[in-house]
Amino acid sequence: MLVMKFGGSSAGDAEKIKNVCDIVKSKLAQKPVVVLSAVQGITDKLIETAEKAANDNDVSKELDEIKQKHHKILKDLELDENLVDSQLDEFNKVVDKIFIMKKTSPELMDEVQSFGEKMSVRIVAAYLNKIGIKAKAFDAYDIGMITTPDYGKAEPLPDTEEKIKEFLKKVKEVPVVTGFIGKDSAGNITTLGRGGSDYTAAVVGAAINGVIEIWTDVNGIMSADPRVVKEARTIDQISFNEASELAYFGARVLHPKTIWPAIRKNIPVKILNSFEPSHKGTTIVKEASKTKEIINAIACKKNICLINIISTRMLLAHGFLARLFSVFEDYKKSVDMVATSEVSVSLTVDNDKDLDKVKDDLEGVAAIKVEKNKAIICVVGEGMSHVPGISGRTFSVLGKNKINIEMISQGASEINISFIVDNKDADKAVQVLHKEFFS
Ligand code: ADP
Ligand code: ASP
Ligand code: MG
Repeated sequence: MLVMKFGGSSAGDAEKIKNVCDIVKSKLAQKPVVVLSAVQGITDKLIETAEKAANDNDVSKELDEIKQKHHKILKDLELDENLVDSQLDEFNKVVDKIFIMKKTSPELMDEVQSFGEKMSVRIVAAYLNKIGIKAKAFDAYDIGMITTPDYGKAEPLPDTEEKIKEFLKKVKEVPVVTGFIGKDSAGNITTLGRGGSDYTAAVVGAAINGVIEIWTDVNGIMSADPRVVKEARTIDQISFNEASELAYFGARVLHPKTIWPAIRKNIPVKILNSFEPSHKGTTIVKEASKTKEIINAIACKKNICLINIISTRMLLAHGFLARLFSVFEDYKKSVDMVATSEVSVSLTVDNDKDLDKVKDDLEGVAAIKVEKNKAIICVVGEGMSHVPGISGRTFSVLGKNKINIEMISQGASEINISFIVDNKDADKAVQVLHKEFFS
């Protein structure tokens, strides 16, 4: 069996949706389960509309744009133009509610974002039927995707895979399932986080023990984001560990959590290009075959916050780090990078939400300085653990190019070196490092 996940980048208009359906058609023998994202740009638009409504703005223009975009796709596909009108109506009702309350909430924002996927699956399933493939649209929570109530970053409950497996056994048609969304046990809609359809695909893949194919708009995982480095090349095979580091440190091509269910079940994940389906893309496996490359890829995550913490009491007395991290834990702030010295700790988080509260809670124990508009650059490669001098090469190239580095961290796994630069230097840092290691 097979899970085929198509991202918004593969489903931007009617032509692209036809292409998606052709790819599904070519794999019918493998009994595919299709997992789908919202039509390209729609999740952003849904969020923008809700936020504007919360700020007391007239959003009739935004509501109309969302409607027109879906109506046009349906018309171009020669399907019933009103196919997703009940989802559009429901979305309008949620927006009305936000407009009256003059505020949103994490629960409401997850409900708002769910409409993109709810509409796209209905369109794709209808088009598959039109071209003679029996298909059926499902909202993921109706097939067993029940999650924790952590809105915006919900986690599937432990029995999710079992439920999905049992449900899908009974489905005769090609299932077309919403990525990204679920419901909590109380029945509220949840999301798995931006880019989370990849994670849905992995959970479904683990449930049915099938290969997980992530179809996107580039030829697999590349040595750098091809939008930043024109010469970036496809990595044929990459290990779970390396892919996980890359995803975690900003390679948007894969949601970081996608790897977990695959590792647990040891099933391969393939990253493929909808616009060049014959390209073999990247396969993520437990152990990648050895290559000559020392470095496999360079990832970059922009707009993070660097936090410098100086202990104001007894320097780094015992228990200080535990206290420090427990405050971040209290506000569910996940820390990406850490470096410590005798008197200070530097760490990074990916947004500034609740940082004021963290500061207040540490009052009297530590002084905190927050620097925004920073980027993490992460150089990844299993080959580097056997080759001396990689850090030296990395930092000397950056020095020669006058790029200032603020914090450095090398994990114990020795498959990555990460450091912080200003947002404005991030693309250049990736470009010069790519040139150093790949040309
Ligand atoms: P989808 O809509 O299919 O989920 P995304 O936009 O989420 O697509 O992810 C695909 C994009 O990820 C690519 O267009 C590319 O710009 C970006 N990307 C970032 N880093 C990498 C990388 N190392 N390899 C390939 N793509 C990358
Ligand atoms: N549509 C969601 C997003 O834009 C989920 C996804 O595309 O994976 O984040
Ligand atoms: Mg994505």
